[in-house]
Amino acid sequence: MIKPGERIPLDGVVEEGASSVDTAALTGESVPREALPGHEVISGCVNLSGVLKVRVTREFGQSTVARILDLVENSSARKSKSEHFITRFARYYTPAVVFAALALAVIPPLLFGQAFAIWVERALIFLVISCPCALVISIPLSFFGGIGGASRSGILVKGGNYLEALADVAIVAFDKTGTLTRGSFEVVAIHPEQIGASELLGLAALVESYSEHPISRSLREAWGKEIDHARVSRVEEIPGQGVRATIDGKQVAAGNIRLMEGVNANGAHECRLPGTSVHIAVDGVYQGHIVIADAAKPDAAQAIRELKSLGIRKTVMLTGDARKVGESVARELGIDEYDAELLPADKVASLERLLAEKREGEKLAFVGDGINDAPVLSRADVGIAMGALGSDAAIEAADVVLMDDKPARIADAVRIARKTLRIVRWNIVFALGVKGVVLALGAAGVANMWAAVFADVGVSVIAILNAMRALDVKNA
Ligand code: ADP
Ligand code: MG
Repeated sequence: MIKPGERIPLDGVVEEGASSVDTAALTGESVPREALPGHEVISGCVNLSGVLKVRVTREFGQSTVARILDLVENSSARKSKSEHFITRFARYYTPAVVFAALALAVIPPLLFGQAFAIWVERALIFLVISCPCALVISIPLSFFGGIGGASRSGILVKGGNYLEALADVAIVAFDKTGTLTRGSFEVVAIHPEQIGASELLGLAALVESYSEHPISRSLREAWGKEIDHARVSRVEEIPGQGVRATIDGKQVAAGNIRLMEGVNANGAHECRLPGTSVHIAVDGVYQGHIVIADAAKPDAAQAIRELKSLGIRKTVMLTGDARKVGESVARELGIDEYDAELLPADKVASLERLLAEKREGEKLAFVGDGINDAPVLSRADVGIAMGALGSDAAIEAADVVLMDDKPARIADAVRIARKTLRIVRWNIVFALGVKGVVLALGAAGVANMWAAVFADVGVSVIAILNAMRALDVKNA
């Protein structure tokens, strides 16, 4: 039972009550979401208006909040190149500086008979100036700021290295269903060939009853009636093709033409209607198809335009759906290239081809949501997954997770990454520059201890303040 004002402690499904929940902590979305019986609510959100009775669906360890905490805690383990550089740099730098200071204190007095007092002071000034804290503190802090700021707007970045890669992204490849499109299909038409239309839809809902694919969910919703799970057994999901199951002792298959060929059901043909056809066969006999259509997400076209304006050289769509559907979505959204009718392995092959096309220093990002996207997500330089609709496999394989499933967030992520890297570079140049100048002056005996303290503490404070700008993602 969750009272208004309380934080939802565990993931679950609303059993009773009606309320709105504030998801801002997870998604950055300021408009509260509705929570009615049957809706899923996720841990970490705040219940705003009504009492909700929620049936818990996941243990704490698997809950959204626990997963996010885990991601954020482990993100510091995945260090960026600049952070690695700093670690290596410090290993040689510190002993080198200490010995140089010792030499400075001892050699001139011993070899040239100069006063010890002067050279010991100069050596101390040298030591103070050369302290590397400005770099050692501010660089990891900038990445931390970038990651923290991004997570406040619903973008989870699993490590500084991915922020670095995001800044150099030049090619972005997308999955279609669930990534660029909403993944909630409307039934456009039912074309039965043997049985009645409602029987065909009922059969489809039964075969699809255990699948979490967006097509399956939509067909179950379109059917709308209770599903008798006892009639369904031996369910097998074939990624990129469809589902097979035994229903009332008969072999039923629902999916695309390729699946129909697989079960030797002759007579399956693409429908004239625009949309995705789900073909159905019983014991190898073709029963007709259901035409379903999905709409592009409201911000998908804008997302592509924003990426273009950020200088992304190429956008590509990789889909398992039919060619004509792929073509129409690509044209509608203004995507440069598309590749359709891909099985999971073909998606990897397509991605390899894109990776080979990259120029020096360029990075490739892939955005997806499904189980069939997981291999591609881990193969890309930066894998971006949809956090709400996406399958756990995709979220696990990805490097960046968009909590609110909005493709327009990708451009935000690139902007945040670029800003973070600008800050990091500025800090490196500024810190080394000031130190270099004061060091030279100190060696020549012009700079005193005050200048040295400024070159150390002053530069550190300025670099840290600058690093904190990375937190401010609104102005990225
Ligand atoms: P995308 O790559 O666009 O996200 P998928 O690879 O998930 O699409 O699916 C590719 C095609 O395979 C779908 O367009 C559909 O024809 C078929 N398909 C996949 N899963 C199912 C399913 N559960 N039920 C029916 N058809 C499916
Ligand atoms: Mg998909």
